[in-house]
Amino acid sequence: MQIKSVNLETVCGITSTLPENDKPEIAFAGKSNVGKSSLINGLMNRKAYARTSAQPGKTQTINFYNINEMLYYVDLPGYGYAKVSEELKAKWGKMIEKYLRTTKQLKIIFLLLDIRHEPSANDKLMYDWIVHQGYEPVIIATKLDKINRSQKDKQIKLLRTGLGAKKETKILPFSALTKQGREEIWDCIEEALGF
Ligand code: GDP
Repeated sequence: MQIKSVNLETVCGITSTLPENDKPEIAFAGKSNVGKSSLINGLMNRKAYARTSAQPGKTQTINFYNINEMLYYVDLPGYGYAKVSEELKAKWGKMIEKYLRTTKQLKIIFLLLDIRHEPSANDKLMYDWIVHQGYEPVIIATKLDKINRSQKDKQIKLLRTGLGAKKETKILPFSALTKQGREEIWDCIEEALGF
């Protein structure tokens, strides 16, 4: 798909009412610093639309990007590192859960995990919420360029086992640096949207 226009249309904080969009939504979830903004920018063909930073803990909002007046990218708040389930459940968790519970347009949800690391308790919690709400997440294993090619299969297995994901669950490796994996992600989006 050719990206012609990108418009950050809605930003929702903890108390905001979520928009009732009339176009399909594609959501992105993952821990802070996992490479979510880099992926979203990569899928927009933009260098810095979604804000990237080396520092975790950016504003906790749900951002709706209107793409080509045709669909929305939904950037879900990145969850924290060390602080475990309690805080996640209390704040960002509530927002994400509310979104998953109320959206009528979500066609596909990507859960991002760093290909180098075993999933954390929060990653697992996130995965379970998504499944619990009746969605089948597609996992994106980010920062592919940071490992040797020979380690790829082993790392993907580690992610699958760590999440307790079904064997049909798609895990797509991606590098924002080399753009490797971009086409497979687009194929997945197009399939979900019925293009
Ligand atoms: P976010 O917090 O999940 O939105 O993560 P960002 O997209 O801001 O990325 C966090 C850091 O990881 C930044 O320094 C990025 O440049 C870096 N990063 C993200 N994706 C990749 C990748 O695929 N390869 C490499 N080498 N670095 C990446």
